Amino acid sequence: MSNPNDDRWSKVKGRLRAEVGDDIYSSWFARMDVEAIEAEAVRLSVPTRFLKSWIQSHYAERVLACWQAEDEKITRIELVVRSAVLRTAVAKPKTPELEINGFASRYLNGNGDGRPLSGGDPGVQEALGGSPLDPRLTFDTFVVGRSNTLAHAAAKQVAAAKRGDAVMFNPLYIHAGVGLGKTHLLQAITWAGNALGERKVLYLTAEKFMYGFVSALRTQTAIAFKEALRGIGVLIIDDMQFLQGKSTQAEFCHTLNALIDAGRQVVIASDRPPSDLESLDDRVRSRLAGGLVVEMGALGEELRFEILKARVLAARAHHPGFDVPPPVLSYIAKAVTHNGRDLEGAVNRLLAHNKLTGHAVTLEMAEREVRDLIRPQEPKRVKIEDIQRVVARQYNVSRSDLLSSRRTANVVRPRQVAMYLAKTLTLRSLPEIGRRFGGRDHTTVLHAVRKIESLVGNDMTLAEEIEILKRQLQE
Ligand code: ADP
Ligand code: MG
Repeated sequence: MSNPNDDRWSKVKGRLRAEVGDDIYSSWFARMDVEAIEAEAVRLSVPTRFLKSWIQSHYAERVLACWQAEDEKITRIELVVRSAVLRTAVAKPKTPELEINGFASRYLNGNGDGRPLSGGDPGVQEALGGSPLDPRLTFDTFVVGRSNTLAHAAAKQVAAAKRGDAVMFNPLYIHAGVGLGKTHLLQAITWAGNALGERKVLYLTAEKFMYGFVSALRTQTAIAFKEALRGIGVLIIDDMQFLQGKSTQAEFCHTLNALIDAGRQVVIASDRPPSDLESLDDRVRSRLAGGLVVEMGALGEELRFEILKARVLAARAHHPGFDVPPPVLSYIAKAVTHNGRDLEGAVNRLLAHNKLTGHAVTLEMAEREVRDLIRPQEPKRVKIEDIQRVVARQYNVSRSDLLSSRRTANVVRPRQVAMYLAKTLTLRSLPEIGRRFGGRDHTTVLHAVRKIESLVGNDMTLAEEIEILKRQLQE
């Protein structure tokens, strides 16, 4: 064993910080210490189990790579939780889990009623880790179209609700693919809600949410943290799909239950529906599904056109000479099908070109400038539910037959086909697919996938059926 204070450690930390950036570094790695360095392994310690599982599942390879860059003999990283007793010899030892268990109910039992915080102590905000907001993401700049009408209406309702109003849907759960406006809508609620001043609205990315807990547990700000949470009327969590890991979810579950039971609004966005959140505790899943779940679909051409138009107008406020003729807008709306981020990129390119060359925006120029933003249509997100529905219809069985344990031939084959499609058309793991098919083991799913793969080579009818199913699902 070599000296833990080895200067390799500070170099590794430097690398890590450079790779992940200051924010992430201070959230997750600032309190990581080296315990021991052996010939091939390094033992690192962190203060809580939660930090350990988060780093393990998200950054283990990164950390190892940083070590290997300093010392290529290192092949293994071991993460351990530092003993709480050692660190706080005076304070009575308490496990983080217990602390969390208690806190959610305690902070809501007081006189907190979700009123905006008085004083606005920045330390308190710090403890909560509120995420920065983009001033452009408001309701005023959000364009409503067919694919987002419901989500928009629900968001408006949440933002306009008064203290003490009955909460209509809780949580409000919005899901959509990348770049379809989730963050925009959530931040719009935050701006509008806080401007109304009825209820304090707190917007957090999933990472910040978790960091709030961790830092509150780690440092002595637990009281400030509870105090601040007491004042929250609406809690908004973006990118819920990143809330992974058992202890994280336990913490999330306590918070969710406590807030909802106390009549506070919770709003969540994710890139998938609750049923598709992997490795999520069933209690959390059902709580999430128990509110209003709204999907925002792909941006239609009309909506893309309107978004572009609004973007150009906004740009003109700062660049009065900038103009994009309607035919160019139509062209981009048709050609750039991907998502809101690419639309934004397209307008920025036109603007840059216009500013730098002084040439007016024309169709030819637009075609040249946005060429690489034109991609083939994103494949549609296929859901396991849809697969089950379509397969059941095709083979004239019911969806519950597919999920049941019945083993008659007329059910077994369709079930295998459905599992095969789930594996090939979605990114879900084998265990997750097994769970969605009536709690089957992942080996059963694997067997089904292999079976169908071996059959389609010889069985033309089956191959054709599967092609038809795929087409139906991807249309
Ligand atoms: P997500 O969080 O779903 O990945 P964002 O909310 O970050 O997507 O949206 C990506 C970009 O597209 C942002 O610039 C956003 O302002 C824009 N955008 C998406 N939907 C709309 C909309 N309906 N109206 C105006 N802008 C939109
Ligand atoms: Mg987002």
